[in-house]
Amino acid sequence: MRLANKTALITGGNSGIGLATAKRFVAEGAKVAITGRNVERLEAAAHELGPQALALAADATDIAATEAAIAKAADRFGKLDILFANAGIPGQTPVGSASLEVFEQVIRTNLTSVFFTVQAALPHLNDGASIILNGSVISVLGNPGYSAYAASKAGVTAMARVLVSELSPRGIRVNVVAPGAIRTPIWGAAIATPEAEKIFEARIGATTPLGHIGEPENIANTVLFLASDEAAHITGQQLFVDGGATSSPAGAPIFRGQAARQ
Ligand code: NAP
Repeated sequence: MRLANKTALITGGNSGIGLATAKRFVAEGAKVAITGRNVERLEAAAHELGPQALALAADATDIAATEAAIAKAADRFGKLDILFANAGIPGQTPVGSASLEVFEQVIRTNLTSVFFTVQAALPHLNDGASIILNGSVISVLGNPGYSAYAASKAGVTAMARVLVSELSPRGIRVNVVAPGAIRTPIWGAAIATPEAEKIFEARIGATTPLGHIGEPENIANTVLFLASDEAAHITGQQLFVDGGATSSPAGAPIFRGQAARQ
């Protein structure tokens, strides 16, 4: 058991990457508190995770609610060893037609809330704890329509470096996991029907060197590593889990024919 006797809190733990990570943590022996806004999905997740889990309704953009949820988790499990600040939303902000409301909501959820989640957790974290923040390949890819989302995730990476400096006196490690496209509900309409999902998978596969979309478990396994003592000397890093999409885009299937002709 890689997380025996460890306690963790995962924001956005009732769906997608957060839920997959909660399952992996529980399987490795951790006690895990999960947060989210949707109470039905929280209850379903808690049922799936079993007695080692605690589900807490809390909107990450509500600092008081986040503080209360983290305090409740620490009350139940004792001080926390692992914080995965994972909650996030997409939101389209194409230049020319973006609304201030959506732009600010994306920044508030994906960036501001991450900072205040870490701040709220600090008194309840053990020295030597591991904090993992969820970033994204979109922070470096320039995908059209994603100004606010890209800026929020690039901000998370920049902020992580500052947190590393500020928290190193307590031996707290801070790292970023930066997923490529992962099969989760965040993609909404793009995967709403089997046909749409097929088209989406083909598009992602064509632009990914490994040729396919990622699964939530790919991220969960990486977060598990960063959370565990196996990563004891790793802090201040951003780990892309993207099938090679950011490091070697020329290896993607859409370019292979061209490369062979050159
Ligand atoms: P998801 O299945 O839609 O999960 C998003 C989670 O965030 C849900 O649990 C949601 O719960 C929670 N959440 C959203 N806003 C919240 C708020 N204000 N307060 C509390 N919880 C909130 O999508 P996912 O793909 O797993 O996303 C998880 C993280 O991965 C996000 O930060 C996302 O940006 C990042 N990411 C995903 C991908 C991908 O391709 N899937 C790629 C790169 C990065 P409630 O709705 O119940 O609040």
